[in-house]
Amino acid sequence: MMQHLSDEHTALYSRILEGSAQILPNGLEQHDGQEEFDKSAWDKCGALGLCGLTVPTMLGGSGLDPLSAVIAMEAFGRGCADNGLGVSLGAHLWGCLTLLLAGDRARNVDIIRDLATGRKIGALAVSEPEAGSDLAAILTTAVAVDGGYRLEGRKCYVTNAPVADVLVVLAETRPGNLAFGLSAFCLERGTPGLTTPAPVSKMGLRTASMGDVELDGCLVPKSARIGAEGAGLSLFLKVMEMERAFILAPAIGSMERVFEATRHYAQNRKQFDQPIAEFESVYGRLAEMYRRTSLARLVLRDAAARKGSGGSITLEASMAKLTISDAWVANCQDALAIFAAKGYLSATGIERELRDALGGQIYSGTSDIQRRTIAKMLRVIS
Ligand SMILES: Cc1cc2nc3c(=O)[nH]c(=O)nc-3n(C[C@H](O)[C@H](O)[C@H](O)COP(=O)(O)OP(=O)(O)OC[C@H]3O[C@@H](n4cnc5c(N)ncnc54)[C@H](O)[C@@H]3O)c2cc1C
Repeated sequence: MMQHLSDEHTALYSRILEGSAQILPNGLEQHDGQEEFDKSAWDKCGALGLCGLTVPTMLGGSGLDPLSAVIAMEAFGRGCADNGLGVSLGAHLWGCLTLLLAGDRARNVDIIRDLATGRKIGALAVSEPEAGSDLAAILTTAVAVDGGYRLEGRKCYVTNAPVADVLVVLAETRPGNLAFGLSAFCLERGTPGLTTPAPVSKMGLRTASMGDVELDGCLVPKSARIGAEGAGLSLFLKVMEMERAFILAPAIGSMERVFEATRHYAQNRKQFDQPIAEFESVYGRLAEMYRRTSLARLVLRDAAARKGSGGSITLEASMAKLTISDAWVANCQDALAIFAAKGYLSATGIERELRDALGGQIYSGTSDIQRRTIAKMLRVIS
């Protein structure tokens, strides 16, 4: 369903769909099994312009508005079945790069250019062992020293950390003050005192490399700080608005792929002398899968169009994140019910899609946190 797309959007969708289908023509099952991040697949994303979709062209990016960017990422998700790669791209683009752009872009031109072209990989390190949903619990500190800051602490669950060249880190510069006590820092791999241990093993999105970031007496110059001291929370909230709204755009393409495969299976698999698609419980699930995908796409594109016309989209971002992630999980469960035993086997790819989809209800704020944000924006709670 390609409703209300301009000729330019349709051409963009077709170009990215075609290019994405070449990114990982085979080997996904093996990469997933061995939890491998595929750098050559990443490089192909860079060549397609996916690593810097919304970055201005003068900074090496594709210069797209938010609606065009999500249309490109929907096409990516449809053409490339590697959902882990989609999340790697999302953390790089909507997390790391968006924060750098919101901060001192003039100071970080070279880094932004390398990230936007995909020559470098970015990560956004916020979560900590004691600080998940609750940013006020962040314990990583950045203490002002002669000429710069000394960072101490540990970040966890950071997408791309084991492979990232650039890590944007949130740390306390004034402990105990959430509103003005956090600052953002741009660290490059190789900075003494910065280490990224081996990737952690996880349930889904296994081709996206995830791990800790350890900061042990990590000395950085003042120029590594992004924005003013104490501006970390406001920068992070700007980033979260974009990340929450758009990080699940590839899931729309994934849902379309899974729907097509499930429809084909249901129309060809026969039981009791008829295609199983004839059973009400099966065609009902297919109808629901299509409905959820279409609604999720509308909510996503609405958020993107609103962002493009300026202004805040805090409410729309949480609505998009919640709607898409719930639809993705429900659709995978319906696909599994229809494929039954065949879907339970790794070779079909359905069980991998379900494992991948479940992560979408956690990263960039859990579903509970999205509901809480929606209730706050509607002034149901203060
Ligand atoms: C695949 C994946 C990728 C990730 N990538 C990154 C990354 O790149 N960078 C990064 O910094 N982090 C990343 N994370 C971490 C992610 O941001 C956190 O997992 C998330 O913010 C939730 O934190 P938590 O897991 O510690 O859960 P907790 O905050 O401990 O929450 C536990 C439970 O309590 C509920 N809960 C907590 N507070 C409230 C509340 N106020 N109201 C209602 N319910 C509440 C939650 O919904 C959840 O059910 C990633 C996580 C995953 C799974």
